[in-house]
Amino acid sequence: MCDSRFADSAPSQQDARSEDSGSTQEASTTEQASADRHPGEPSAVGDPHLGESPSLDRDPATGHPRPPRREFKARGSFVTRCAGCNLPELNCLCPYQAKADSRVQVWLITHPLEHHKPTNTGRLIADVLAPTRVFTWYRTTPDEQLLALLADERYAPFVVFPDDQPDYADRVVEVEAVRRVPRERIPVLILLDGTWRQARRIFRKSPYLERLPVLPLRTDRLTRYRLRKPASQAHLCTAEVAAELLRQSGEEDAASVLDDYFDVFNDSYAASRRYHKIETPSPAMRRLAARRG
Ligand SMILES: [Zn+2]
Repeated sequence: MCDSRFADSAPSQQDARSEDSGSTQEASTTEQASADRHPGEPSAVGDPHLGESPSLDRDPATGHPRPPRREFKARGSFVTRCAGCNLPELNCLCPYQAKADSRVQVWLITHPLEHHKPTNTGRLIADVLAPTRVFTWYRTTPDEQLLALLADERYAPFVVFPDDQPDYADRVVEVEAVRRVPRERIPVLILLDGTWRQARRIFRKSPYLERLPVLPLRTDRLTRYRLRKPASQAHLCTAEVAAELLRQSGEEDAASVLDDYFDVFNDSYAASRRYHKIETPSPAMRRLAARRG
């Protein structure tokens, strides 16, 4: 789901309705994913004899029982995916994985349901910016490493979230605050990676975020994301939010590389869904390939 949480104003009633429809779509996608895990799913039983022969249930070398066969099949799993980038092999992203340096770091707190979706764009940030950290959010068991990092004075973390509710107005800062972080400290953008509802839940149910400055994204930019239907074109997805805030923080080079990489991901994935192989590299593809040398 594209990130409706990054709307730059409180949703109107119409927005709220479309947000609901977006969430419904998200829920059905999740349902689909769960349904696809069901062992009765045809694609999971390509070999009708699998599991029937006792010899296949044990490792022939050791005689030990094998773990149950992994049945997870995401939507579109009939497509062969590249092991490197998890995109359909038809238009693989690997030749365009370029790195950039940035003083500003990005840490993602990712909802567990978002983690393994191939259309998730948060992972693109980690491909471009090596120091990116990804934490899985569990309400009752906060990540110990994240807690330690938040207590580490070397970092100056900001939680990226809209300023549409009055109860945390005293914590809201503008992007100039990121630019003004003293040189000896590392500014960190914490992005809550999930649907609108998931992100709001993470924001509201994580006591360790309660003291952090809240950084809303202010931009007129519209989403270019084509892989999920956004509730509004003003709702940017995670990689777009990161690119925009990096740019506004003065990290022009990192922002451009991430923007290009996101474009290539978006175009490649969308083309593969149509079984179309991209023969002519786009300008973004050419820039990234040149950067890799
Ligand atoms: Zn690949």
